[in-house]
Amino acid sequence: MPEQLAYLDHAATTPLRPEARAAMLSWLGERFGNPSGAHRVARTARQAVDEARDAVAEAVACQPGDVVFTSGGTEADNLAVRGVHAARPGQVLCSAIEHDAVLGPVASVGGDTVPVDERGVIDLDALAGALAPGVTLVSVMAANNEVGTVQPLPEVAEVVRHLAPAAALHTDAVQAAPWLDLPGLVAGADLVSLSSHKLGGPQGVGALVVRRGTPLRAQALGGGQERELRSGTHNVAGIAGFAAALRATLATRDETAARVRGMRDRLARGLVAAVPGTVVTGAGGGPGRLPGCLHLCLPRVESEALLYLLDEAGVCASAASACASGAQQASHVLAAMGVPAERSRGALRLSLGWTTTEADVDHALATIPAAVARLQAAAA
Ligand code: PLP
Repeated sequence: MPEQLAYLDHAATTPLRPEARAAMLSWLGERFGNPSGAHRVARTARQAVDEARDAVAEAVACQPGDVVFTSGGTEADNLAVRGVHAARPGQVLCSAIEHDAVLGPVASVGGDTVPVDERGVIDLDALAGALAPGVTLVSVMAANNEVGTVQPLPEVAEVVRHLAPAAALHTDAVQAAPWLDLPGLVAGADLVSLSSHKLGGPQGVGALVVRRGTPLRAQALGGGQERELRSGTHNVAGIAGFAAALRATLATRDETAARVRGMRDRLARGLVAAVPGTVVTGAGGGPGRLPGCLHLCLPRVESEALLYLLDEAGVCASAASACASGAQQASHVLAAMGVPAERSRGALRLSLGWTTTEADVDHALATIPAAVARLQAAAA
């Protein structure tokens, strides 16, 4: 084990917040119950789920009845895309830099992608050009998981309302939720995906907000839970932990964002100065980037070899989004942004979060330039 560990992969998953752990513990011990039942034990569980529903509704500024609990962001995205398409078949569009949890379902219903610019911001003219009366769903993520670009969602909503008023707008707000003011950002979206483990909650739980009147057909059929939109016995402990993490996130969000942004910028400055030829991806202009995200392309190194050395030295980072096999694949996000393949080979994502300290940044600054130099020397 390395002496020091800097966990800089918060975009993959975050450590559990103590508030989430405390909220879950009683449901893993003396408390239990199926929220769908009628007796007192069931009612207590239902009350916990209802309180969690209120917390999600408050965070998004929607009605509690709009919240559908799911097994995470992936299921929320699948339900949004395939559920709207099943209820109202038609053309589906999404941005070219969506997470695979959106890209996969969109591809499965024969949908198309809309290009982004070199910062990773959706091309609003291209979106306008693609919007036709037959479009029934548009999906544009609130912020990207690899490069952290925030999308101009209010403008997207306006274009969609204007040119395809019958279309539903879905946004994957999984990465935005820990950092941004959701009510302002997602006000124009009919469907919003959230995931608990990106904001200090447990893994395996999330939510899809479905605003009233949005056409949606359930994808999991059975007991009819969640207004018949998502059958399956509730994960009460997970849902309670999710809500507690969300409340804790909101209570400290602005100060965490400011603190983390400062550390992220120090890390960026230090790495750019120490490793000549480093390019910060997606920098400049647009609605901005998530405070916790730093994506770099380092010259003359292969991400996979670099990540190995960093792991050895106690820096946990990633290149593209992690895939189930742990293997690194060429990033569709960087390709869509027009990053040359040669440059994207040296991609490194450092994602900071609520537990990140200045000591983590110091450790990364002491480790990464040396690892890059070692690989460059070996390749020369
Ligand atoms: N959407 C985005 C933007 C993500 O970053 C992730 C997780 O990496 C997901 C969806 C999937 O969420 P979950 O891990 O809860 O299934």
